[in-house]
Amino acid sequence: MVYLKTDEEIELIRLSGLVLGKAHAEVAKLIGPGVKTAQLDRCAEEYIRDHGGVPSFKGFNAFPGSLCISVREQVVHGIPGDYELREGDIVSIDGGVLLNNFHSDSAYTYAVGKVSERVEELLKVTKASLYEGIAKATSGTRLGDVGFAIQQHVQRHGFSVVRELVGHGIGRSLHEEPEVPNFGKRGQGVKLEPGMVIAIEPMINLGTRNVLQEKDGWTIRTADRKPSAHFEHTVAIRTGGPQILTTFEFIEQALEARQESEEIYSR
Ligand code: MG
Ligand code: MG
Repeated sequence: MVYLKTDEEIELIRLSGLVLGKAHAEVAKLIGPGVKTAQLDRCAEEYIRDHGGVPSFKGFNAFPGSLCISVREQVVHGIPGDYELREGDIVSIDGGVLLNNFHSDSAYTYAVGKVSERVEELLKVTKASLYEGIAKATSGTRLGDVGFAIQQHVQRHGFSVVRELVGHGIGRSLHEEPEVPNFGKRGQGVKLEPGMVIAIEPMINLGTRNVLQEKDGWTIRTADRKPSAHFEHTVAIRTGGPQILTTFEFIEQALEARQESEEIYSR
């Protein structure tokens, strides 16, 4: 069952996404070598609760964290803990907020200090593929068009799309129908119509597309242990085109401010 949302409900999801986007930015300010992933998790939880929300992931199927934090070869669903970030890592921060009975869900992958050129390209291409998918998420197209656009962009750059995990509908529940694959064939799959709200979330690997689950029962990592990136937005299908309900604006402001202060230091 796909639940179509009213304009008012879509607005509530956007407000939830706003708190989430600002929580992400607080986390972005802390990311660097020596920081424990549990610290990032606490920071996000505090910000979300201070702003009237509840972290959607905490306790979801008994998940222990407020964020999923996945480092390097970890694709998604990493559990925050004692691991300290290192120079050269990449780290995916995936968060959700429940506010006024509606969930929002978004993810961003960061470089920790300097990473190799190819890994930098992986981050750039994965983020761009998310926007390629969103551009196709308009009324009258099908989910296959969204998946196709993502897959084409990624494979053109020699990277691979994870198949076992997909995006999803979102609203009063964190995971609703339909499933939103990051691969597909044009003109196939569920037809998109105004009022649908979906989380689009390409999970893109530098090497093989194959993944496996760690013994902790949560963490998904690449089979070849090469790095993987993940970007996600919650998106509403509207008559005029897609409306992105989560935001990277605050994250990117925080990253720019950091870069500027680092440049001043290095002078
Ligand atoms: Mg997510
Ligand atoms: Mg999601």
